Amino acid sequence: MDEKTRIFIVEDEKRIARFLQMELEHEGFVTATESNGRRAYERILQENYDLVLLDLMLPEMDGLTICQNVRKLSDIPIIMLTAKDDLEDKVQGLDIGANDYMTKPFAIEELLARIRAVLRAHKPAEPAADGEVLVTRDLVMYPERYEVKVKGEPVELTKKEYQLLEYLLRNKRTVLSRDQILSTVWGYDYIGDTNVVDVYIRYLRSKIDERFGEKYIHTMRGVGYVIKD
Ligand code: CA
Repeated sequence: MDEKTRIFIVEDEKRIARFLQMELEHEGFVTATESNGRRAYERILQENYDLVLLDLMLPEMDGLTICQNVRKLSDIPIIMLTAKDDLEDKVQGLDIGANDYMTKPFAIEELLARIRAVLRAHKPAEPAADGEVLVTRDLVMYPERYEVKVKGEPVELTKKEYQLLEYLLRNKRTVLSRDQILSTVWGYDYIGDTNVVDVYIRYLRSKIDERFGEKYIHTMRGVGYVIKD
């Protein structure tokens, strides 16, 4: 392999994360670490890793949920790290699409062997053509393909609806005023009803929030709109 294999270590115990990072880099892998479950989920989809080591118990989103959600969108190899020697967890982990699991504490040699085995068995899917990915919970946008999926299902949007959603996603957690939205999505020279923003927010809500029964787009009364995790 010309390019180094990139391994993403999702582990909230700093001591273990550091140990894994040291050992894996010593073996010639490139690594990154994350201790927060929700951020890890987003980074797995947004950043380009070859394999994920996924701890089970994590703050904000647990390893099983991460694995389940990632599997709806990606076949990246995942090895679960579980602290409990709990058969149910293992079976569940494999059921939801983990490629392998290891029970802590484990010998690093065994983990390295499993990593190599999983990487060998994993047939690279179609060339990663996804490019940039914007994610919030189960909503994923692929700007280069002009595509939106919620819970793995494609959502048909008009050009303006798409642009509005993209603007909200790129500014996730930031409240955007109607004026900001209007000048960015419709342009500074837009002359027309400023209610157009509210109308398109309604369209998006019916195609996304209402259809999938989850609230993504929030109204901040008197201020504007925001997409939250
Ligand atoms: Ca943990």
